Amino acid sequence: MRFSEYLLATLKEAPKDAETLSHKLMIRAGMIRKIAAGIYNFLPIGLKVFRKVENIIREEMNNSGAVEVMMPFVTPSDLWIKSGRWDLYGKELLRLKDRADREFCLGPTHEEVVTDLVDREVKSYRNLPLTVYQIQPKFRDEIRPRFGVMRAREFVMKDAYSFDLNEESADKSYSKMFDAYKRIFERCGLRFRAVEADSGNIGGSFSHEFMVLAETGEDVIMVCDDCDYAANIETAPVIFRQKDLNSKQHEKNRGAGKDMPENKIEKISTPSCISVKDVSNFLGVNITKIVKTMVLSTNEGLEAVLIRGDHELSLTKYKKHRGLDFAELAMDDEIAKINTVKGFTGPVNLGIKIFADNELKNMTSYVTGGNEKDFHLLNVNHDKDFNIEDFMDCRQTVDGDECPGYPEYTLKSTRGIEVGHVFKLGTKYSESMNAVFTDRDGKDTNFYMGCYGIGVGRVVAAAVEQHNDKNGIKLPFSISPFEVLIIPTDIKNEKVITYANDLYEKIKLESYDVAIDDRAESAGVKFKDSELIGVPYCIVVGPKSLEKNMVEIKDRRTSNKIEISKDDFSGLLDFINGK
Ligand code: ATP
Ligand code: MG
Repeated sequence: MRFSEYLLATLKEAPKDAETLSHKLMIRAGMIRKIAAGIYNFLPIGLKVFRKVENIIREEMNNSGAVEVMMPFVTPSDLWIKSGRWDLYGKELLRLKDRADREFCLGPTHEEVVTDLVDREVKSYRNLPLTVYQIQPKFRDEIRPRFGVMRAREFVMKDAYSFDLNEESADKSYSKMFDAYKRIFERCGLRFRAVEADSGNIGGSFSHEFMVLAETGEDVIMVCDDCDYAANIETAPVIFRQKDLNSKQHEKNRGAGKDMPENKIEKISTPSCISVKDVSNFLGVNITKIVKTMVLSTNEGLEAVLIRGDHELSLTKYKKHRGLDFAELAMDDEIAKINTVKGFTGPVNLGIKIFADNELKNMTSYVTGGNEKDFHLLNVNHDKDFNIEDFMDCRQTVDGDECPGYPEYTLKSTRGIEVGHVFKLGTKYSESMNAVFTDRDGKDTNFYMGCYGIGVGRVVAAAVEQHNDKNGIKLPFSISPFEVLIIPTDIKNEKVITYANDLYEKIKLESYDVAIDDRAESAGVKFKDSELIGVPYCIVVGPKSLEKNMVEIKDRRTSNKIEISKDDFSGLLDFINGK
């Protein structure tokens, strides 16, 4: 590629609305341009990286036995009505009508279309297992598109879907995809973790998110540095250890903070103390001696859950342990209907069912809300002062919690960008859409399905987020926009341009992805651009070094540079090959 004929659209400054490093750098390097909120053009440099990621994904999908198809971007409503998602899918689904008033939507994901496709084409168990995939645009009308192509509205996804005879075979398809995903992200040079995202009701986890580790990630994940364990903060289980409440140590712990009389509940004025922090400061009581009471609105009505003051509720775990379809924090008008006051809710005489996190088992004589404005209660004890229906693991994990993998290890929180998701679907779609094959005994059986997504643009952005320095992007060789860039510093110098052009042709013949910056720009501009777009190897051809029969070659990632004889072509290739 000759930069004199190329669209190199580098910028000195990033636009003001670019928040993350990757967003800023991708704009500055001329990789992407916004045309509307969450809708982007990919410019040549961006597209080159995008295609390299796409090719890695395609190769690994093909290697794993998945078959490529292409489904439409615009999908008819009847399939979505059949699966029941037409009404359930919220505003992320962009709906439209054709000239005959028929309803369609822009595909945000393709379970419906692929279930229909496979149902039509696959009749017998003999054709199973089957995994199909596509790499194609999706549209989700995200409420807050941001961070460039990281959270876009239109974006390209690789989505794969597996179809199996039964659960056992589906597990094999799942692990094939899981392994393919690991290879994909390794080949893209990403530091990532496969994170357990949710657990099935009957053992085994059925969903993993692949998280690229980055401070700007939107997801908080809990990882163990000593083993492979990683899980979403919402779902990571807490390994609960019951304390001996009669032990001496416990007696000592009880006294943490202000010394409180043991038995009798004491009502205490706590003006305007709404948060646990306020209460802790005001009363001089350790936050771990305070219990938060949260009122939830669920499909079974209003109920309360108790959590230790310094912990956060995991609604995901709570819903799962309670077997609820729906649960969220109750609204003010719902709270107003029960015997309490927002900000001062407590379990004593609350009048609704009360559940609690396991940690409450280790607590006695604690502080709770008084169900009255500006009042709290001291020395509250469950069993004595109120009843707990059930204890469960429903708090988020925190730094220092025991690793579920090995008791001697601990978890710590970190941030991640979700680049891929593998999911065991079971018969959810094949049942609702009545998609069947004929099994060995001639019986109609629902397909056992899995779905597997990777956001291609998000992988590019995540890679930029992980690989950069103050001068710009420094992507790994496998996904860099070019592998080698030749910079003739003075194109008017006949010797320089002739040598540079010859070298360009020779390197091209060796099948490297090579470019030559033959623009009539200063050497400084060319160096800056080469660092900004992040070409791993730069060969600088200048009049002075050429006089000495030398050229300079630089490694963008290590900043190593050497001078090498201009005729030592194999030495030059050795440097590029890292030898
Ligand atoms: P998120 O929680 O980030 O919204 P999701 O759970 O909705 O992701 P999936 O439905 O599992 O995502 O989609 C599969 C993959 O598609 C994701 O892992 C991600 O890489 C990509 N993806 C999802 N939403 C977007 C988006 N708005 N922009 C770019 N890529 C996306
Ligand atoms: Mg989403």
